[in-house]
Amino acid sequence: MAGRTEIERALTELLRPEAFRDYGPNGLQVEGRAEVRRIASGVTASLAFIDAAIAAGADTLLVHHGLFWRGQDGRLTGWLRERVRRLLVHDINLFAYHLPLDAEPRLGNNAQLGALLGLEADARFGEQDLGFIGAAGALASVQALAERAAAALGRAPLVVPGDGRPLARIAWCSGGAQGYFEAAIGAGADAFVTGEISEPQAHLARETGVAFLACGHHASERYGVAALGAHLAECFALEHRFVDIDNPA
Ligand SMILES: [Zn+2]
Repeated sequence: MAGRTEIERALTELLRPEAFRDYGPNGLQVEGRAEVRRIASGVTASLAFIDAAIAAGADTLLVHHGLFWRGQDGRLTGWLRERVRRLLVHDINLFAYHLPLDAEPRLGNNAQLGALLGLEADARFGEQDLGFIGAAGALASVQALAERAAAALGRAPLVVPGDGRPLARIAWCSGGAQGYFEAAIGAGADAFVTGEISEPQAHLARETGVAFLACGHHASERYGVAALGAHLAECFALEHRFVDIDNPA
């Protein structure tokens, strides 16, 4: 058992949310009970996740995608009311860390995705240094990289192959980081791995020769929050369980 404020302090120290410009508030988004025993981690604070976590007996939720985002009008109605109501009724804490969790160099989404693919970053790139880049090593072809991604993430990536050059440098950034493609090319990548693709990236891949692999937003962001939950469990002698709610996107 540990105090909620003690856990929040540890998360702030580790993830340094104040250092990021983000699309929503990082940290404690919904306040529940003061004592924490059982954490459930998950990618998104969806209703299905909240319900599964409650069924698993969690008193504290840890997610990458929280409830509140820039551009919302602030009303607790409809689906958002339902999610918040569940948390309040069950006196559950909700911690959410977005960009700080992508960036954290050991437990974060990009570090964990890299480790899963067998890549180690030796440099960072892009806005707020969120992009990771490193030597391709054994993943010297787009096919080898795509096969590794498919095996590691359990789904085949969407691949725009580029010009077929041997891969020396691979860049990656989890989730919806298709907007980082040009920065990855600028940083010297021969291939870029992220979660999603939008229309312009297919043309950029063809015209620059740099391969683009979209591996799934959800699939590429499962690992940071699970690693962070396990880390907290170890530090504070808590129970922890990662709850995966499948998402085709
Ligand atoms: Zn995301």
